[in-house]
Amino acid sequence: MAGGYPLLMPNPRRRAKIVATFGPASSDPETIARLLEAGVDVVRLNLSHGAHETHRAIVAAVRAEAERIDRQVPILMDLMGPRFRLGVLPSEGRVLEAGSVVTISEDPDSDLPIEEPEFLDHVKSGERVLIDNGLVELKIESAADRRLTARVIEAGKVSTRKGINLPDSDIPFSISDKDRADIALAVELGIEFLGASYVGSAADVIAVRELSETLGSRIPVVAKLERQRALQSLDEIVEAADVVMVARGDLGVEVPLHQVPVLQKRIVEIGLGLGTPVIVATQMLESMMEHSRPSRAESSDVANAVFDGADALMLSGETAAGKFPVESVRTMVRIMVEAESHENRSREPGHELSPVRPSWTSGRFVTADTVAGAATFAARRLPVKKIVAFSQSGFTARLISRYRPGAEIVMFTADPIVASRSQLVWGVTPVLLDAEPRDHDQVVEMVDRIMTARDLAEPGDLLILLMGAPIKERPLTNLLRIHQVRA
Ligand code: PGA
Ligand code: MN
Repeated sequence: MAGGYPLLMPNPRRRAKIVATFGPASSDPETIARLLEAGVDVVRLNLSHGAHETHRAIVAAVRAEAERIDRQVPILMDLMGPRFRLGVLPSEGRVLEAGSVVTISEDPDSDLPIEEPEFLDHVKSGERVLIDNGLVELKIESAADRRLTARVIEAGKVSTRKGINLPDSDIPFSISDKDRADIALAVELGIEFLGASYVGSAADVIAVRELSETLGSRIPVVAKLERQRALQSLDEIVEAADVVMVARGDLGVEVPLHQVPVLQKRIVEIGLGLGTPVIVATQMLESMMEHSRPSRAESSDVANAVFDGADALMLSGETAAGKFPVESVRTMVRIMVEAESHENRSREPGHELSPVRPSWTSGRFVTADTVAGAATFAARRLPVKKIVAFSQSGFTARLISRYRPGAEIVMFTADPIVASRSQLVWGVTPVLLDAEPRDHDQVVEMVDRIMTARDLAEPGDLLILLMGAPIKERPLTNLLRIHQVRA
């Protein structure tokens, strides 16, 4: 160990983040308080379900609790997107026998009536129709005049409003009137992230973000990777998106299920390369909807998502509608902390981390990325407790996180929304400042004062400080200082 510095304990905090979907099982203020306390970093609202009034009430309760505990809790509003569903069927459902032929159309008297009929114009003979998470499979035999006939390949019983996936069809992405109204709500409520479902290309991601801007504020977009088509331009989508989600629910229907684990690893690698945070989602602790303990396989799945390098892991039904929402979060925390104690992915600067965004390969961006990599190197060499980064936009914190340093990253910012959004980023703890520091000396003074006041450091601790100097010119990060906290 380097002389003169105290030997410090390894960082005990959880590094990867938890996104939890709030719904009927997590809408009362007391449960919300317990969920945040248990370790939820980001709240997700699934706009496929629930009325605006319900979502407004949850947003208000989350904001109130976040304020009370003095923590930034960003909210992700996940749009329904171009989702197709069956229409109304008899209450006992309809049994589809293998080999039989069924009709599909807008007509309520057809075998399978449908409610959002745009796709009727796009499906072709020979393509598959998957119903209810792929449990039932049909193959189109004829398609004319918005009336389809299809043969049943995988038999089963279907019922009202079950979801339909069309993995072979070339259906253009569209933003429905509902999505538009939901984006307007997100703008109105100052929501931190929008989830874009079923995107097929980078242009689709950009269209959602631009619509939010047109409607009043530019909201970062979580691109949900859940269509076959999106996999054809994965790099472009990960680059265009602010965050991506490995949306294993729909993805596992649209691509062969055995490919999902490998796709998960590939998407995380691309995200690390491009500095785009990655959320791994769906069925992580599915059995906890009913039981107070997960299956062995689920426990391994959570740990492996951590080992893959995901920024965040997501709970869906477990917290939104399950019987054990709080216990699901606690269980996830325990598995993650254990997995992280056996894993340090701290990367050598410049190693394993290509490609970077083309826009980052010049000038001040390269400088900032180099300093971020140097901080990671320094944090490994020295017994450093924390890396403290002054970040105006959150960009520096994301750059440092990309290197997965062993030391916790504390991001100082005076912008509340930047502080809040950084809660989704691996290893980053935001600290919201009341005022921007004026100069370098004031930065050091603030760090000593705030880090000790918040129990993030003690006098004598060694920190790495990153900032852009001179501050008043608002440059990107260009300065690294090794600093020992003063009494
Ligand atoms: P959803 O998205 O829960 O909105 O369908 C996630 C997924 O498909 O995995
Ligand atoms: Mn989905």
